[in-house]
Amino acid sequence: MLICYTVRKDDFNMQQKGNLSVNTENLMPIIKKWLYSDRDIFLRELVSNACDAISKLNKIASLGQAEAVEKPEVRITPDPKSNTLTIEDNGIGMTAEEIMKYINQVAFSGAAEFIEKYEKSGTDGIIGHFGLGFYSAFMVSDSVEIDTLSYLDGATPVHWESDGTVEFSMQDGTRDTHGTTITLHLNEESLDFLTDAELGKVLNKYCFFLPYPVLLGTVKEENCEYRQINDTTPLWNKSPSQCTDEEYRDFYRKVFLDYNEPLFWIHLNVEYPFRLKGILYFPKLTQNIDTMQGQIKLYNNQVFVADNIKEIIPEFLMLLKGVIDCLDMPLNVSRSFLQNDRTVKSISNHITKKVADRICAMFADDRDKYNEYWNDIGLFIKYGCMKDDKFYDRTKDCLIFRTMQDEYLTLPDYLDYAKQKHENKVYYVTNEIQQAQYIRLFNDNDIKCVLLDGVIDPPFVNFMETKNQGVRFMRIDSDLGSLLGESIGYDGLCGEFTAMLDDKNTTVKAGSLASNMPALLLLDEDNRRMQDMSRYYSGLNMQEMFPGKYTLTLNTDSELVKNLNAMAPCEDKTLIMRQIYDLASLANVPLTPDRMSEFLQRSTIVLNKLAK
Ligand code: ADP
Repeated sequence: MLICYTVRKDDFNMQQKGNLSVNTENLMPIIKKWLYSDRDIFLRELVSNACDAISKLNKIASLGQAEAVEKPEVRITPDPKSNTLTIEDNGIGMTAEEIMKYINQVAFSGAAEFIEKYEKSGTDGIIGHFGLGFYSAFMVSDSVEIDTLSYLDGATPVHWESDGTVEFSMQDGTRDTHGTTITLHLNEESLDFLTDAELGKVLNKYCFFLPYPVLLGTVKEENCEYRQINDTTPLWNKSPSQCTDEEYRDFYRKVFLDYNEPLFWIHLNVEYPFRLKGILYFPKLTQNIDTMQGQIKLYNNQVFVADNIKEIIPEFLMLLKGVIDCLDMPLNVSRSFLQNDRTVKSISNHITKKVADRICAMFADDRDKYNEYWNDIGLFIKYGCMKDDKFYDRTKDCLIFRTMQDEYLTLPDYLDYAKQKHENKVYYVTNEIQQAQYIRLFNDNDIKCVLLDGVIDPPFVNFMETKNQGVRFMRIDSDLGSLLGESIGYDGLCGEFTAMLDDKNTTVKAGSLASNMPALLLLDEDNRRMQDMSRYYSGLNMQEMFPGKYTLTLNTDSELVKNLNAMAPCEDKTLIMRQIYDLASLANVPLTPDRMSEFLQRSTIVLNKLAK
């Protein structure tokens, strides 16, 4: 039967459905306008439709109702002479009735849904990321043709054409093998989609893991040469037990173009209550969250959907690199749908749990390796704990601390040890060079300190205190605890120092320190944290708002301090006291330029006196 007629789409659908309220005249301008920012999405939609068409035919063949597609493929052919781009598949094809039903009616329902979404969510980004199926072809085309032949015995080929207004024409076509060819007559602004570079880039992004060969044609004189651009069997689809380490590493290099070895990976393979596969890699991290860029690519049935969708991947996991293929997630979804969907929430929880499980397994099974990785993964785990309570609950026992003696201790390990020495206090170092004096003192007294020198550590220390009531983290220069012994007979000297310093933020006290250093400057922990936190969050130096509260601790075991205590007040005594104070300060913070210059001058005076 020859069908050859021109119909207004509204008329046609009204006949079919009886009533229709969507104003289709509005459809194309809206699609063109709002889809514009992600124009390249049309290729994803058309190529994945083509793959679907092959899958459908294969499915029917598996039921014995058709012949399987012998050499399934999708060909993409640019023709710069006619400014057309064709996407051809050898899949199920469509009859005239199917075109009417699927292409035309879907357009109407798609339009209704689109307008509804558009009204509700404004420019919330639905459209940029999630396409509108076949009709996204009109973003880049002045007109579109479909040439199709259904796989059904005796089917008639059909030719359909529309210029993106409200009219289409349909007549018998000439196609003689089952499948569909979509021909796009590209509009003026979209001619870049004829270049090999642009097509290669877009196909690479969206179609790299499609399940059938996607062949991109390059026109060479009169011929067109085709090359396959995709990998039809992504590693995540293989069973984890069949994948070798080398395959995982190769896959990582290929997908993320990162030639640093990943530390380790997690192969996700879930069947119930949702179907999800994927591989998450732990890259070598740096200590600076700001410069770290993870990338989690989300796929739906091997079709790329988007990068880093935070509704599905918890934010802290974005530091990782990976691929996630979620079969139960429709392609055409809006952000607001994702936020409210229960499956999405359970997917996100599941991923978090798997990551936590992997960390715990490594901690339990290969502690040496875990310790070795800690420098790289510690930041990520700490960040995850602070961001996600459930993640903290699962991994809290795997949080470890590196001591200055290069041991890796859990908090209970450390506290167990500390019990005998300094109740529930965790001494930590934030800067090995700046705090070298203090480290030496602690080492000499056989007290372990842990290194917490990352950008994340100041908030992490606070976090750990809230989670472990009664445990106090003290920076090594804030508290000497049991290191400081009692001394009597130094009140006078302390008074002289206090008068000399004349600084209400500095108190002076004396005690015995098993060391020969004359004095140490201690900085109040809480006070310093206020400064650190304000710097961390606002980038401001709040020294003025929260001036440091210092304690100058005179070491009564030091010969110099003993002698000084016995000395009557005089010019030299003041000189020595100033010098002691500057030395103690120097071991804690860099001196201001004025104090530094004074210190150098005074040092020369002291040397002169010695040389006499
Ligand atoms: P969706 O793919 O989300 O259903 P589309 O607008 O992309 O929406 O396509 C509508 C329908 O048209 C498809 O469901 C399918 O039945 C049919 N179709 C589109 N492209 C092809 C194709 N290449 N081969 C066979 N059928 C197709």
